[in-house]
Amino acid sequence: MSNLVTDIEIAQQAKMKPIREIAAEIGLAENEIECYGPYKAKLSNEAIRRLHNRSNGKLILVTSINPTPAGEGKSTVTIGLGDAIKQLGKKAIIALREPSLGPVMGLKGGACGGGWSQVVPMEDINLHFTGDLHAITSANNALASFIDNHIHQGNELGIDPRKIIWKRAIDLNDRVLRDIVIGLGGEKNGVPREDHFEITAASEMMAIFCLAKDFRDLKERIARTVVAFTVHNEPVTVQDLGVEGALTLLLKDAFKPNLVQTLEHTPAIIHGGPFANIAHGCNSLIATKTALKLADYVITEAGFGADLGAEKFLDIKCRIGELNPSAVVIVATIRALKMHGGVPLKELHKENSEALIQGFANLKKHVETMEQFGLPYIVALNRFTGDHSSEIATFDKLCREQNIPYALTEVWEKGGRGGNELADKMMSLLSENNNNQTFAPLYEVTDSIEQKLTTIATKVYGADGIKLSAKAKKQVQAIEDAGWANVPVCIAKTQYSLSDDRTKIGRPDNFMISIREFKPSVGAGFIVAYAGDMLTMPGLPKRPAAMGMDLDESGKVTGLF
Ligand code: ADP
Repeated sequence: MSNLVTDIEIAQQAKMKPIREIAAEIGLAENEIECYGPYKAKLSNEAIRRLHNRSNGKLILVTSINPTPAGEGKSTVTIGLGDAIKQLGKKAIIALREPSLGPVMGLKGGACGGGWSQVVPMEDINLHFTGDLHAITSANNALASFIDNHIHQGNELGIDPRKIIWKRAIDLNDRVLRDIVIGLGGEKNGVPREDHFEITAASEMMAIFCLAKDFRDLKERIARTVVAFTVHNEPVTVQDLGVEGALTLLLKDAFKPNLVQTLEHTPAIIHGGPFANIAHGCNSLIATKTALKLADYVITEAGFGADLGAEKFLDIKCRIGELNPSAVVIVATIRALKMHGGVPLKELHKENSEALIQGFANLKKHVETMEQFGLPYIVALNRFTGDHSSEIATFDKLCREQNIPYALTEVWEKGGRGGNELADKMMSLLSENNNNQTFAPLYEVTDSIEQKLTTIATKVYGADGIKLSAKAKKQVQAIEDAGWANVPVCIAKTQYSLSDDRTKIGRPDNFMISIREFKPSVGAGFIVAYAGDMLTMPGLPKRPAAMGMDLDESGKVTGLF
């Protein structure tokens, strides 16, 4: 296999099976899928209802250490592990998030895995796929338009235009939209006010979509969503505006999970896509629940490091969805461990076992976090071809010394075959832990907001505690007074550090987590706490990835990673 082949070239050479065949292999009848061309389908509402009473397979979560800006290969390992488990003759399904055009066009790239562990058709999935993100964006912005129209038409509810918390959304990185003024141009063009856009992946509509159990729950969550406050500080909900039915309707098709396949024809359900740093970071609950009915092993991924995606997956999604995960894979790479040992990004290719030893502390912290959740784990060392054998030997020694189970994983280079060791070790782990599972979220929703945040900050980030700004303190009071406090918290924090300061690499100590402000996401069912300077609308880099992309006259895509 040539190292020079790009992800898209590998994906374009793939011989996909018709999606009907993939569906049939997991027991779905022809009329239980709705095809979007030959290789993509949505699962029908009837199929989801039929499967409802079936028993669940085992749920395996893939997470990672704090990543480099390029990502450490969680999606790649998730896909490769699914393929490797399938190679053992077992029924496996992969559950992933839908990519956002922000990172696709910007810096980080797509979300289809890489090398010989990818989901296909990769161009479609990375670009508009089945249109779900556009539908979510439309529902989000329809609501914004109803709010502004209500004010324009006489404002019967008495909405204070300065207290609208519902933001407009777009699935792009576009920093100029962070703070804008709308309604300019005179009386006929609405009431002028300051407004804000966020990326769709950070929107409450996306979170609602991803945490709803069924259509009824989706509509209830939308209905109770608080969009603004009146001049007397009374909350205004979607139900007050009378548009929950219309907004649910806009999500009618998007809400059905999407079925595709890996390069090795393992079924993959890809649905919903909240980011893990500024949102809750995992695919839709309905996708995970449906996958668990269809397979004996569901391998899913939660974004960024275990401090973000995994914490939110376990404390928010598993709690709301009553999911009982069986085991965790923690992806580590030699390059990220060296970065945590102080090596600048440009020098990560150079041999440096000393830095690796230093940076290993970051992995150790995430291992301890998974132990606190009561979950068995295996570390997957995602091998890059440029890794030095001396560094791999050092990693092996550190794991042995500290009794950390790991598997050398080469799925990027070899597909499922490169995940044999990981799959074998995972099967042993699952059978060992069959009867003594003790998974539990880290806090109770009835703990105070400060207690919940302190638990995450101290137990997951390794901080000494939390510090609330004056604004945040007032907001805690207001959230408690409104009766919205007894829900999980979703911390928006940098992915690069265990702390809220991206420059603090490795395993920092002696630090506090500063909470700037809160947003009650009443519809989603959690409270967002903004730590440090996290923004919900990313910007583009100086040289966006888009500059390398093209479409030739035959319609062939190039440069999409
Ligand atoms: P994550 O899900 O952690 O963000 P991805 O699986 O999306 O990471 O991988 C990020 C990028 O790194 C992708 O472009 C992928 O092709 C590449 N990649 C992942 N693993 C390897 C590897 N072992 N060798 C080379 N490139 C890799």
